[in-house]
Amino acid sequence: MSKTRLSLTVGFAMALGFMLAQHVEFSELFAQDGGKVSPVKPRARDFYVPNSEALGADEMRIIACGTGMPTARPSQAASCWLVELGNGEKFLFDLGTGSAERIAAMQIPYNYLDKVFLSHLHTDHFGDIMSLFVGGALMGRQKPLRIWGPSGDTPERGTKSAIDHVRKALIWDLDGRKGITDPRGYFIEAKEFDYKGVNQIVYQENGVTIRSWPAIHSLDGPVSFSLEWNGLKFVFGGDTYPNKWYDEFARDADVAIHECFIPVGVMVEKFKFTPQSSLAVATQIHTAPEAFGKVMSMIKPRMAVAYHFFKDFDTTGDILERVRTTYDGPLSLAEDYMVWNVTKDKIRVRMAIVDEDVWPPPASEKPQLPDASTRIPYSKFIVGGKLDMHKTLQPIYDETNKKYGLNEKQD
Ligand SMILES: [Zn+2]
Ligand SMILES: [Zn+2]
Repeated sequence: MSKTRLSLTVGFAMALGFMLAQHVEFSELFAQDGGKVSPVKPRARDFYVPNSEALGADEMRIIACGTGMPTARPSQAASCWLVELGNGEKFLFDLGTGSAERIAAMQIPYNYLDKVFLSHLHTDHFGDIMSLFVGGALMGRQKPLRIWGPSGDTPERGTKSAIDHVRKALIWDLDGRKGITDPRGYFIEAKEFDYKGVNQIVYQENGVTIRSWPAIHSLDGPVSFSLEWNGLKFVFGGDTYPNKWYDEFARDADVAIHECFIPVGVMVEKFKFTPQSSLAVATQIHTAPEAFGKVMSMIKPRMAVAYHFFKDFDTTGDILERVRTTYDGPLSLAEDYMVWNVTKDKIRVRMAIVDEDVWPPPASEKPQLPDASTRIPYSKFIVGGKLDMHKTLQPIYDETNKKYGLNEKQD
């Protein structure tokens, strides 16, 4: 048997019983290496380490960079999904609070992370826009950050207005960087589309087609997306009450992500919500686990992915049991750093093991020197507060000028 099937069978997800088992002969588990386990050779591993695996030309890799709730916590950022394609294209779906850290853990040069698709404008789905925008530009994104998102029922409730205001809120941040670092990344573009569009194409380049359709959540405006490439279909459902458009347009998905909210009783006990508001939030504004299962039974994806709950030892079993009352197909109860490698033949589910002390990867292209004349000066008042550090700092200039063959002078 292949190493892939071995990992699928004995891997993390299976160990927790969240996926349907694939049938494997017991003897096959010992088929490697002439039936012996080597004391010195590595065995097949069943986890994903960022920056350690090539992506196959026909392969799609999906990584959960946020699966939790508006109050992000150390183990779970809010909604964010990275889709990497074998043709080199990468897409982010949602950018919820805390997710920028997870994205950083994937060690992907920021120049490749310039396309974000927002399901709606709750902070648990776009709260880290500022972090990726500025942090990405600082660390090698040499082009604008592009944000696709829905219109609202009024212009000020739309994505364009939200992003324009993010840009305005960052005037101090961005002005303070002028003339100091590569300026090309400090632009953010909102590409707003009609939230009422039904299976409309919102992006089509390089063999990738992304479509949107409406979702039903809080106010008019939220949407879900599909991404089709190379005969594979990824579906990302943002927050929603179960809706007819998802039922219609997610049907042939290889991987279908859909929210699956915390059960009412858990909201009452853990969040201390009243039973009344728990019922309203967990069954009417969002999708209850039983309803998630019902949706997946209708669309029958190759892999159903549930998210938008705190996944703990004492909450997961309840959610799984509730989903299983209405759905018995392939299932991943998502948590941060879960990874799906998707080809036409198989879907491999693993967890990523990440380096918490990761540094940003190198820029994919050479940085450009900024025009120093665009730098905005301090006032005389502030400059007048500088202590005299010239003698202290000059050795740093001497050392750096010598090392890199420069002739830089202190301000
Ligand atoms: Zn929401
Ligand atoms: Zn949400």
